[in-house]
Amino acid sequence: MGIAPSPIQIDSNANEFISKPRKMLIDGKWVNSVSGKTFPTYNPATGEVLAQIAEGDKADIDLAVKAARRAFDSGPWPRMTASERGKLIWKLADLLERNVEEFATLETLDNGKPLTIARAADVPLAVEMFRYMAGWATKLEGTTIPLSVHYTPGANYHAYTLREPVGVVGQIIPWNFPLLMAAWKLAPALACGCTVVLKPAEQTPLTALRLGELIQEAGFPDGVVNIVPGYGETAGAALAAHDQVDKIAFTGSTEVGKLIVHAATGNLKKVSLELGGKSPNVVFKDADLDTAIAESASAIFFNHGQCCCAGSRLFVERSIFDRVVEGVAASAKKIRVGPGLEPNTSMGPLVSEEQLRRVCGYLESGFSEGAKAVAGGKKIGDKGYFVEPTVLVNTKDNMKVVQEEIFGPVVAAIPFDNPEELAPRANDSVYGLAAGVWTKDISKAHRMAAILRAGTVWINCYNIFDAALPFGGYKQSGWGREMGKDVLSLYTQTKAVCARI
Ligand code: NAP
Ligand code: MG
Repeated sequence: MGIAPSPIQIDSNANEFISKPRKMLIDGKWVNSVSGKTFPTYNPATGEVLAQIAEGDKADIDLAVKAARRAFDSGPWPRMTASERGKLIWKLADLLERNVEEFATLETLDNGKPLTIARAADVPLAVEMFRYMAGWATKLEGTTIPLSVHYTPGANYHAYTLREPVGVVGQIIPWNFPLLMAAWKLAPALACGCTVVLKPAEQTPLTALRLGELIQEAGFPDGVVNIVPGYGETAGAALAAHDQVDKIAFTGSTEVGKLIVHAATGNLKKVSLELGGKSPNVVFKDADLDTAIAESASAIFFNHGQCCCAGSRLFVERSIFDRVVEGVAASAKKIRVGPGLEPNTSMGPLVSEEQLRRVCGYLESGFSEGAKAVAGGKKIGDKGYFVEPTVLVNTKDNMKVVQEEIFGPVVAAIPFDNPEELAPRANDSVYGLAAGVWTKDISKAHRMAAILRAGTVWINCYNIFDAALPFGGYKQSGWGREMGKDVLSLYTQTKAVCARI
């Protein structure tokens, strides 16, 4: 199909990629779905169809799982040295880096985010994730363990552990960072020697499918990575329930996370979950206010608020409340909302019509309960899924806009009087993914870091991600940690070996 000629020059490789219907990757081959069905992926800046995608369902997932099973049980992958596996992962990073422009363009077309951001953040962070994890392939070690048992007089034992790959892994990812989420999932699984069936989000399958081509170009053996696009209720549910899958890793909504847990009970596959958030971002009156204001605006507006860790509850000490709210509102009003491909755009459309409806529904609910917008508050235009960056005040802690994840560019600004009163309110959420603290008082900063029930606490910064830094949730924000060395425990299991000597 391709996109219509437009005044904006788009990357010719990206245009070429969307000019053909895209197939799925199973056992090293690009194939149509068993049913023959396809589904469209849309450009959220225009609502137009970008490309038709093979629609995987239960039958395709079954073929992909069997391919991953064969690749794990009898293929060359488990017999390779760790160094050879690491080299392949590193090579994939190099190939991705060589194609930054194409990947950034595909991401912008499919997801809507500004090209400048996809180019500067999404693709390089994905490259970095593969490089970081490539290094771990050769460093997965067990331990030797002295035993103290005395069952048989005079017996001695030599005991040690082996760190083995968990096996065939199902991975289900969302649409907010399509390529980066694929990298967060694939890189550690591959470093640990697992084989994978990846299901990208229905809204944004393009970069995962293009990555599949690079995986082949890098020379991964057939069946090590299988990519099956399709809908969550069919393909996703089949993957989560499949009894030959040893582990399922999911990123998305808390609601679907619970379905994944239920689906996994059949064969008790291991489960890790990276779920929603309603993260408190706390500004104390002794903060560097100019920085705190600018960064608090980007804590919520980065990626159009479609971040699981978005700083969506902005708690501000009362004496500086008006100044901070005015500052964040002024930042919101300065954001240039438009198509992601336009060079001047700083915020693109939301990912889909459904997401636009959800976000507007939350705005209406907030207004009906008495919240007021000091910036934004409504959708923009009739073409594409654009919404104004919005700052809400006059909220109550029990309102839906303060309790529930909106997943859009909407922040609730909330005054507080002192740290003692603040802490329980900041922690008053079913979620616990991230938190921000702004203060020059280092004791207060670290006290808050200890009190806040969140998997990540950023002090005088926000949205800082690094492949080496573990990320994941307390409470209903998830199970397990991605990135850093913590993630290795999600894709390996420990075997204890005990020998009488
Ligand atoms: P979602 O439904 O949780 O989607 C995430 C992934 O799960 C997608 O690949 C989806 O497939 C798949 N899925 C859906 N139902 C499934 C099922 N029954 N079994 C297995 N897999 C299933 O999220 P969404 O509907 O896109 O967004 C809804 C809300 O979720 C957002 O507004 C936001 O609040 C939250 N969210 C959170 C994150 C995060 O990073 N924590 C990311 C995205 C969304 P499809 O492609 O068919 O949807
Ligand atoms: Mg799309």
